[in-house]
Amino acid sequence: MIVDGHNDLVLHRWRGEPAVDVRLEDAAAADFAGGFFALYIPSPSVPDPTTIEYTVPLPAPIPFEQAAPIAEELFAALCALPVERATSVDDFQDGRVAAIVHMEGAEAIAPDLSNLESWYERGLRSIGPVWSRPNHFAEGVPFRFPGSSDVGSGLTAAGSALVQACNSLGILVDLSHLNWAGFWDVARLSTAPLVATHSNAHALCAASRNLTDLQLDAIRDSGGVVGVNFAVTFLREDGLLDRSTGIGEIVRHVDYYVERMGVDHVAFGSDFDGAAMPDELGGIAGFPKLVDALRAAGHDDDAVEKITHGNWLRVLADTWRS
Ligand code: ZN
Repeated sequence: MIVDGHNDLVLHRWRGEPAVDVRLEDAAAADFAGGFFALYIPSPSVPDPTTIEYTVPLPAPIPFEQAAPIAEELFAALCALPVERATSVDDFQDGRVAAIVHMEGAEAIAPDLSNLESWYERGLRSIGPVWSRPNHFAEGVPFRFPGSSDVGSGLTAAGSALVQACNSLGILVDLSHLNWAGFWDVARLSTAPLVATHSNAHALCAASRNLTDLQLDAIRDSGGVVGVNFAVTFLREDGLLDRSTGIGEIVRHVDYYVERMGVDHVAFGSDFDGAAMPDELGGIAGFPKLVDALRAAGHDDDAVEKITHGNWLRVLADTWRS
């Protein structure tokens, strides 16, 4: 069974486009049981994320009044998919696809959090306070290569309140896209395991979006998990947007994480349909090939079970228990 930390299928459906990577008709053969499905409000000024290379300026904030109706449309697009909405780890089962409703950037949450509970009631179970842009709650990491996430300030007062409210409701707080100061603010404040749904190792690829060893250690010490991102620009040592990148680059980041954090803290966070992927993978249909590559690299049955779904299910169970 595969449980994955991030995809942007909903954005494609909202735009009326077919899926490129998350072709649900491939799910059964690929053993794909779902994972985090992002509600992401696109910044108008940002180029197509599948063509992002090197440095992209930080986009302008999107006000709540503008974001809220778009989030409703994105949510409707998710609800129209042939998937279950996951609110319990028991929702992940062989033979069907379960979607964790995830906000990538909390622009659609009112600054006073007045609509957070109604979103929870409708199935929201994961929030990244920011995408790579500032909002009421925090500041995101601008895309840079090579680069550091140590740009800008941390959580605002509203951001701290959001983290605490998520903790008490049992909503996962995602660290991917948060800048350095925001990461450590969440690490200090949150009572849940720390999670980065789709981020790679900065030691192997010096993209600003990737995590340093210190951050990985904090996630490990909290009992959390990191999803390895399959985007070629976050995998490769040279940061180049080259879709001929092999899946061995994914294995390289998995291996590094296992060595640094231990096998209990490593998972997948593909970024399918949200970034440029290795052609060799061919979307979710490539998961079995990737699992074979992990086995060939020496990961035994126990490790494969944890990396493919066990770690996600453990952390979700710990986080959603409120
Ligand atoms: Zn993302």
